[in-house]
Amino acid sequence: MYQEASGQVFSSEKSKLFLGAMNNEKKQVKDIFGFDEGSLPETYLGIPLIQGRVTKEILRPLVDKIKKRATGWAGSLLSIQGRAVLIKSVLRSISIYSMSIYKWHTSVIKEGERILRNFFWSREPDTKKACVVVWDKVCKLFKEGGINLRRLKEINQSLMMKVTWNFLNPKNEWSEFMRAKFIAKPGSFSTCTKGSSIWAGVRGALEDVCSNSGWVIGDGSCIDLWKDIWCSPISLKDLINNDNIPWKNLHAKVSSIIVNGRWSLPHNLLLLFHRLGMDINSIKLNTNKADRRVWKPDLVDFVMGSYPLMIDNLQKKGIYIVSRCRLCSKGAETLAHLFWNCTFSSSLWSWLETLFNICIVERNLKSLLLAGDTMSPYLKDLWIGAIWGGTKLIWHARNKKTFEDCIITLDKEKRKWSKLFHDTAFLSKGRIYNNQSDFGILRSLGVPLHPSKSTVIKSCSWELPRKG
Ligand SMILES: [Zn+2]
Repeated sequence: MYQEASGQVFSSEKSKLFLGAMNNEKKQVKDIFGFDEGSLPETYLGIPLIQGRVTKEILRPLVDKIKKRATGWAGSLLSIQGRAVLIKSVLRSISIYSMSIYKWHTSVIKEGERILRNFFWSREPDTKKACVVVWDKVCKLFKEGGINLRRLKEINQSLMMKVTWNFLNPKNEWSEFMRAKFIAKPGSFSTCTKGSSIWAGVRGALEDVCSNSGWVIGDGSCIDLWKDIWCSPISLKDLINNDNIPWKNLHAKVSSIIVNGRWSLPHNLLLLFHRLGMDINSIKLNTNKADRRVWKPDLVDFVMGSYPLMIDNLQKKGIYIVSRCRLCSKGAETLAHLFWNCTFSSSLWSWLETLFNICIVERNLKSLLLAGDTMSPYLKDLWIGAIWGGTKLIWHARNKKTFEDCIITLDKEKRKWSKLFHDTAFLSKGRIYNNQSDFGILRSLGVPLHPSKSTVIKSCSWELPRKG
């Protein structure tokens, strides 16, 4: 049919037939195509096709190829920068095609790294040279002080994760076929390779992909209620963290708690969510759409603490994650909540406003900063210092509570803020207006006074001009 439609003809010498478990039909198929039957292992588009596990011996030719290329250049007088470029553009790319399909054996990866490292330092793939910078550091990103040579292991793992992503989010026949073969029942993946050379790699990357992806909830039919990450930064199973529960037998989907496009939780689940401090109603449903797996934002950002910002950005994209403010355990942890609307931060700002004898109706950074315009220069310095320092202290308090589980009390925070006033007072060169109100504020803040220089009164007399 292809030949008729395209006018092209198959080359029977270059084509081979690979047939699975067939007995009687084999000859019939062969007669139709007229090709010889091939047998594994075979090389297709540069990749060795094999059955079963990928062994060291299969990958060996590729390592030898890298070595041969590196040896060819050894005589040339390349600078160290030139060798770095060659490693990035040529040597490393030899392995990439194979690495995007097969999980490489650790010992083979180590050998590949050794060749690249030796070539980089000594121009010879087999000559080791004493060097002062560890290889790990050389391989780091530019911004981290390295020269951006990525480790083979990391390249292999990221490529495996890409294959796994396609396996989990079927868009073509390959993934449908793989899913049919390796998913026995919902949520459980096959532990044996079943003759596949790819499955071991996919399986090895499953955990990384699952723990780094979340869900945009559609009808909920694809999302595992307990084991998938859909309502919080980790799965409910990890959140509950109780090994006595038979997780293996729990296969409920999120769709089981959605009725007519709304959340409908049984009483015990409601209690559980309440206990975990989560408000399920803050998660939006897109019931007319299918569930969609999404890659979670960078873990580094999360650890560095821009989590509220992440929540804000996710909400802009229509992705809702249940989050709970660590300081008041009431609202969702967005930036606006954390800094301005949280009961904890609110009481700190109110206290500050009382000290400065002002009242701000709608609190946000702009309105707070503008309020300083009516104050005397010294008070304004103190006020602005308190705002910048205060927001920083709220952020620190939130991180202490989140990551170290410290007890945060208002009194302790107020003492920290008071110290801030002293620091700013020390730095400020401004003066106050010498009036009762300013003196009163400074007294309540407990900082040194910076009175304006009082006008010096000099006596002078005036007399009428003499007559004539
Ligand atoms: Zn709060």
